[in-house]
Amino acid sequence: MLLDPDEMPKAWYNIIPDLPEKLPPPRDPEEGPSRLKYMQQVMLKTAFEQELSDQRWIPIPEEVREIYIHAGRPRPLVRAKRLEEYLKTPAKLYYKREDLSPPGSHKLNTALAQVYYARKEGYEGVCTETGAGQWGSALSWAAAVMGLRCVVFWVRFAYEWKPDRRTYMQLLGADVHASPSKITEVGRAILERDPHHGGNLGIAISEGLEYAEKHDEFVYCLGSVLNHVLLHQTIIGLETLKQFEKIDVQPDVMISCLGGGSNFGGFVLPMVGKVLRGEAECEFIAAQSLATPNLVKGEYRYDFADHAEKTPLLKMYTLGHKAEFPKIYAEGLRYHAAAPIISLLKHLGYVKAIAYAIDEKDVFEAAKIFMQTEGFLPAPESAYSIRCAIDEALECKKTGEEKVIAFNVSGHGFLDLFAYREKLFEKKEPT
Ligand SMILES: *Cc1c(COP(=O)(O)O)cnc(C)c1O
Repeated sequence: MLLDPDEMPKAWYNIIPDLPEKLPPPRDPEEGPSRLKYMQQVMLKTAFEQELSDQRWIPIPEEVREIYIHAGRPRPLVRAKRLEEYLKTPAKLYYKREDLSPPGSHKLNTALAQVYYARKEGYEGVCTETGAGQWGSALSWAAAVMGLRCVVFWVRFAYEWKPDRRTYMQLLGADVHASPSKITEVGRAILERDPHHGGNLGIAISEGLEYAEKHDEFVYCLGSVLNHVLLHQTIIGLETLKQFEKIDVQPDVMISCLGGGSNFGGFVLPMVGKVLRGEAECEFIAAQSLATPNLVKGEYRYDFADHAEKTPLLKMYTLGHKAEFPKIYAEGLRYHAAAPIISLLKHLGYVKAIAYAIDEKDVFEAAKIFMQTEGFLPAPESAYSIRCAIDEALECKKTGEEKVIAFNVSGHGFLDLFAYREKLFEKKEPT
């Protein structure tokens, strides 16, 4: 199912005014300096405004719409006929193809918006951290096509693990630093103690923030968790609903993988809105890893969004901001907490979550089935979404239900082929 460019939504959907309870606001901890004031200094003014907005529809700037189209939006919604036949299920499966994004993932949807606002607010560049590398790739792409500079602090072990993705960002003109790096105080202090430190997301965030603090012409951007990021991602779900409307089909279940919650939120929130207004019925399932089962096993409480405690406290399902997690190939799902909006919806019973084994065997098997039936290579993170959809379809086979199951393929796996090779053919574990 395709849409014409002029059918692409003209506004993002902000679910905040439609939530059945007031979203618990970000808060300062009782001790120490104000994190809220600090974030306001290093972040985009527009992002901060959108974060707290109670306006239901927020117009997508014309230039952002143009570049969405340039980057291949609207994206297809595909009926997974071959996968259905393979599974011999009475269920009808549909998937949204965010894997068609040029830098490889849905993260481009918010990267383009943030870089646009950065330029409008007079910045010359954007800086950030990246874990798996997808966010760094998306921000580098957006900065390149909009003529801004981009500085990325990339967790060292992943930087060394994925030389091709590093080349990809460098081709786009980004400055990519293995974190801890020598160019920030935080990084230098850590390297003095341990010159071979492998890094972690917390340190990389601290470096990105310090870079923005010390360079007035740079602004710090975030790729998941926050309300404005989920807002920009609703383009996915809005297109999907239009596509379903055009074929006169209603999804019974919507599924996606969840690390911080941006692709899941983007995909489901427009439909959640319909459910909250009593216009539809639908189930929503987030697929995660038992390495970081924030929604499945976390506590719903105020916690920091980062390891270094530089961010305000957010009310989220969290495993604790200081916790250490096992390594998995779906690195993008390794985050200690789920977005405040998704957390509230989980708390109120609108969203369910499921977590798959740390060995990722079933998940990678699902990716292989998807490759051999539908022919598209999913990112390892997206394979969780596919696993969950397959399990739902197999359940329908038992019950005979003809459910309509929609799932999101958040990214492609061409730069993750090494992970598939190691896991499926060399039987290695991530190190
Ligand atoms: C980053 C990423 C995720 C997980 O992040 P969310 O914010 O939970 O969406 C999932 N899939 C891909 C391809 C990613 O790059």
